[in-house]
Amino acid sequence: MNGKSATTRARGAVSIVDVSPRDGLQNEKIPVSTDDKLRLINDLIALGARRIEAVSFVNPKKVPQMADADAVMAGVRRDAGASYIGLVLNTRGAHSAVDAGVDEINYVLPVTDAFAAANQNTTVAAALDALEEVSGIAAASAIPLTVTAAVAFGCPYQGDVPGEQTLSVVRSALERGQLAEVALADTIGCAVPWQVGEVFASLASETDVPLRAHLHETRHTALANTYAAMAAGVTVFDSAVGGLGGCPFAPGAAGNVSTEDLAWMLARAGFSTSIDPQAATELGRWICAKVETAPRSGLSGAGVFPQVA
Ligand code: ZN
Repeated sequence: MNGKSATTRARGAVSIVDVSPRDGLQNEKIPVSTDDKLRLINDLIALGARRIEAVSFVNPKKVPQMADADAVMAGVRRDAGASYIGLVLNTRGAHSAVDAGVDEINYVLPVTDAFAAANQNTTVAAALDALEEVSGIAAASAIPLTVTAAVAFGCPYQGDVPGEQTLSVVRSALERGQLAEVALADTIGCAVPWQVGEVFASLASETDVPLRAHLHETRHTALANTYAAMAAGVTVFDSAVGGLGGCPFAPGAAGNVSTEDLAWMLARAGFSTSIDPQAATELGRWICAKVETAPRSGLSGAGVFPQVA
């Protein structure tokens, strides 16, 4: 079996949220058709993904790759046992997400004013005000709301982000929104494991709200950061097949940690994820070919180990 455990211990379940259709594609130059996005989503479900960040409801002039969000949501299978997440930056996006029938809303909350200005033309204070409204919109439709704290470990504009700055913004978010989950995002892939461990451990000591990590592989610290986040109690991780991904408003942001490397590492360690690493590698190759880029994952080069059944 692919990614069979190398240890004798069973270590429980880790949940992987695949963000390929959104974070994975939003920064690619070559547009992907709605049909191909739907194929990507269906293939993700087939290889085991149960939560999929499918779309974002953002200004199509600024992020043209996500302009077909309504059409994607209209085309996804509803009988497949998958939860479709729509990313939003403001109340307008939240209304669109509700209208499109997403299963979860993920609100992006920058922790620095500099990134708030560049990414969504706002401030941290105004983004917290908007969160309260977005929370009301989600609650009125009984849709779970999650928050992703962007640039939580470092910002392309501010530079260093002290842990206390991230924690104080997240504290406010927990007070002002009814949140099903909070993610800390290493948006530009500048975090190191000890930092990730400290910030997540502090946050975990303050709240019972489930935590998720969104880690980018820019400087090859994503899997080490995953280990650190897990040691701090995190059991939910974002990733993208082929290591696709980036942010149009975060210079230097490269791909997400790849779904295949993450799923393989976890399976080898004895954790159960629902994802098949070999199938994720193949899907990563397919979608990367569509956007004419090389897959950025270890498994795409070296393959799954061991390869014999
Ligand atoms: Zn990201």
